[in-house]
Amino acid sequence: MSIEKTEAVVLRAVNYRDSSKIVTFYTKRYGKMSAMAKGARNPKSKFGSLFQPLNYLQIVFYRRENRELQYVSSSDFVKYFKSLTSDVDRLSIAMSLIEITDRVMHDEEENEKVFNLLVDSLAALDSPQTFPRNTFAHFGLNLAIGLGFTPNFGNCLVCGKPIDLETQRKVYYVVEKGGPLCETCSANLNEGFLLSGSALLTLRSFVGLSPAAAAGAGMDPALRNELANFAFVYLKRHAGMLKEIKSLKFMAASI
Ligand SMILES: [Zn+2]
Repeated sequence: MSIEKTEAVVLRAVNYRDSSKIVTFYTKRYGKMSAMAKGARNPKSKFGSLFQPLNYLQIVFYRRENRELQYVSSSDFVKYFKSLTSDVDRLSIAMSLIEITDRVMHDEEENEKVFNLLVDSLAALDSPQTFPRNTFAHFGLNLAIGLGFTPNFGNCLVCGKPIDLETQRKVYYVVEKGGPLCETCSANLNEGFLLSGSALLTLRSFVGLSPAAAAGAGMDPALRNELANFAFVYLKRHAGMLKEIKSLKFMAASI
């Protein structure tokens, strides 16, 4: 057994016995991990209200390999996202990022890129001058990339010709294969998810962009919805299971 320290975001917490909690974290060093916080529900507990979903913490824990449940010994905030809990739109998008991370990431699989994407996206949502749907779209897209499903926004999936947005205002995008179709190939194939040229360009610019920059990008609200819908559909196809994400209900009507 060893004593370890890592940054972590609380994904969920359930009560255990009279006074404890079992907390599921997404950690920087160990991926998704569950740990027991003994006595966390005692009014005088040193853990206070640290173990609420969305909290970005530093945790110290006793780690034993191959044990399903670790033991938290101490914890503190790295950063407190204070605006998230007072704005319903920001909170529901933040919760959807948490739920998605919980669903698609596996136990004990370290992915620092995904961890940084999550905390930087939560920080962007917490900042007042940002657009929550931008963050959703950017997160979904870059999470898919972090999982190895990198989309192509440049060349036709079938013939390889660059997509020319001067002549092509709308593009059919084949989500399962992760690529767009040129006009000639889309006339032959008749399939795909319809994207405007501006959506294709914006998605292209979102690949690898920082969450802060993406969150502040000004654009038409219809375009913002188009990006968020595309990211949802893309992630659902490649990461699976997202249909059951509770906090995504707000998006279902527009998909
Ligand atoms: Zn083509």
